Amino acid sequence: MDALVAVQPDVTRPTFWGIGVVGAIVFYYLAAVALSIFAYGIAERIRSITAGAPEPIERFDALGRRLLDTTKVVATNETVFDRDWFGGLMHALIVWGFLTLFAGTVVLAVDMDLWTPLLGRESFFTGPFYLGYSAVLDGLGLLFVVGVSMALYRRYWVRADRLWGEHTGVEDDLFVWTLWVLGVGGFLLEGVRILGTGMPDAEVASFVGWSVASGLAGLGISEGTAGAVYAPLWWSHAIVALGFVAWLPTAKPVHMLTAPAALLTRDPDAGRRLPGVPADASPETIGYADLRDVTWKHRLDQDACTNCGRCSAVCPATAVGRPLDPRTVVLDLTEYRHAVDAGTAERRPVVAAEGESVIDAETMEACMACQACMDVCPVAVEHLPQFVAMNRRLTETGQLDASLQETLTDLFRTGNAYGEPGRRRPEWTEELSFEVPDAREQSVEYLWYVGDAPSFDDRNRAVARSLARLFEVAGVSYGILYEDERNDGNDVRRVGEEGLFETLAGETVEALRTADFETLVTTDPHAYNTFKNEYEAVGWARGDDVRHYTQVVASLLESGALGLSADELGGTVTYHDPCHLGRYNGEYDAPRAVIDATGATRVEMPRNRADAFCCGGGGGGQWTDADQDVKPSEERLREAVEDTRSGGDVEQFVVACPTCLTMFEDGRKTGGYEGDVDVVDVAELVWEALEERGVRVDD
Ligand code: SF4
Ligand code: SF4
Repeated sequence: MDALVAVQPDVTRPTFWGIGVVGAIVFYYLAAVALSIFAYGIAERIRSITAGAPEPIERFDALGRRLLDTTKVVATNETVFDRDWFGGLMHALIVWGFLTLFAGTVVLAVDMDLWTPLLGRESFFTGPFYLGYSAVLDGLGLLFVVGVSMALYRRYWVRADRLWGEHTGVEDDLFVWTLWVLGVGGFLLEGVRILGTGMPDAEVASFVGWSVASGLAGLGISEGTAGAVYAPLWWSHAIVALGFVAWLPTAKPVHMLTAPAALLTRDPDAGRRLPGVPADASPETIGYADLRDVTWKHRLDQDACTNCGRCSAVCPATAVGRPLDPRTVVLDLTEYRHAVDAGTAERRPVVAAEGESVIDAETMEACMACQACMDVCPVAVEHLPQFVAMNRRLTETGQLDASLQETLTDLFRTGNAYGEPGRRRPEWTEELSFEVPDAREQSVEYLWYVGDAPSFDDRNRAVARSLARLFEVAGVSYGILYEDERNDGNDVRRVGEEGLFETLAGETVEALRTADFETLVTTDPHAYNTFKNEYEAVGWARGDDVRHYTQVVASLLESGALGLSADELGGTVTYHDPCHLGRYNGEYDAPRAVIDATGATRVEMPRNRADAFCCGGGGGGQWTDADQDVKPSEERLREAVEDTRSGGDVEQFVVACPTCLTMFEDGRKTGGYEGDVDVVDVAELVWEALEERGVRVDD
């Protein structure tokens, strides 16, 4: 390049070569029209988003950190790379190529339209700057074309399932093909210009354009022919580019703007900490009844959705044939709002059990609140809070599945999901030879919140007894609340029964206040979640003192209080991450450390940790009769025995959640896996290991 500059220090290229003054004026006119349409489209988009209801939580706090995080995500494309290196690379090449080409266009416009004519300065689009500019734009432009070609390959050759949803259509085709035409057309145009201007030496810096020019010359195209076709080619390229600018705010490309905005305003606790309903809310304003109830953030999320289908691909409800596809819900709402904005749709309820609502009640009932959709969404769409807002509407208006309604009535009446009198809560302790301490009568280090299933369900009662034995053996100071426990309300809240959640949480807080303890331990990850993340809003601000029992047992093992030497058990096991412990709260290691301490050989299912597949019991799933092809628990057990490396050796399917235990014991029977695996809880596995060492507490 130095040699080129030395030879031609003022080297540059004519910008409107072959277009003429009139052509340039027409171009500026069309550009002004395109930019005006763009500005109008953006203003309309902003108006549609900000017409939404106010957000119940702060979305612009810690703005500096939010900006940094968003910049990092956009720059690295890390959320697109997540679980999909091909998609990540493809998107990164497109983003970086596009941004570079855009920046190059802006630089050229500044030189041509501001720096030189308005400020009267000498053009900087010459010499080394011009050559560097040409090389960089050609390099990144080439990567852009490679990225778009990868997108075409995946969409039309591989035909990846998730790219083809109910809302996939011409717009998606037009978007990707327009980018390709712009990228490839840009290089063709450059090649024709270089050939038409006599292959100037300095244009070697535009190495892709130079190669195209050489190729065209090799095909026998003369300098004169190139010069003659340049203007029509230039105009077609310019019209496609300006059309894209005008189209951008009203179609799929708008995610280039809305996605960073959605990332910037994301709630880091979305889903695990749901907003409450204002105390003075009237019944008709609870949940999403009408479009105007949908908050601006949820509208922004809907407009940020890229129709990538990642959420649908991981959704257990979609996988088992329940009538729910999270992408379709998001895009149904988007389409409906835009149709209302455009005056082409009548207003109708957002969600209802029957009739002409946008979303069907049974679609929302199918959600298991597992958060897999949110975890995988590259633009941070907050599905679950939107879905809960619709569930709130359904519960408020009594449009509920009959068995769910029955359970909620039981919860209201008795404070537990089994409809049992509260005095029966401690019955599980009766088979123990020792007395479980009463935390209402003595100070304890660990207040153990046992939960509904371990208190009333026979299979889970066995787990509670195993855990009690572990506490006894370890000699820890612990106690329970006996009949003063109430359901924690986590799942009640997620099915939309906010009033009942507040009642149960209020009673639970009252019971917690009767005890003097340092740490609250839960058997149930669902309880763990709500105590840790949601109880502050109901008057109990001790979220930092909450532990799941696997975390406590892991620390007891580490301190030597449980005395295992990691060789007690010899079988092969696999571990299922509960959604509320793993994806919700990021605890993946403690249960694994506990399992490993027993000496069992642990193998991982293909979908593990944040990718784990829900058991089907969350979000009220355990309380409803779902319409589905196969149960989520059956699909998960199939994965354990068929898809897992050494799956044939897996003898025990280990869980750390009472809901999971119930769902998998059921799936084991209905799916025909009784001869393949046993389902055991982590606490049972540890107790089995201790028994192997000869430890006894019930003798
Ligand atoms: S929370 Fe889970 S079940 Fe519900 S839509 Fe998302 S992925 Fe599907
Ligand atoms: S909601 Fe997110 S994951 Fe789902 S299709 Fe839209 S962008 Fe993709």
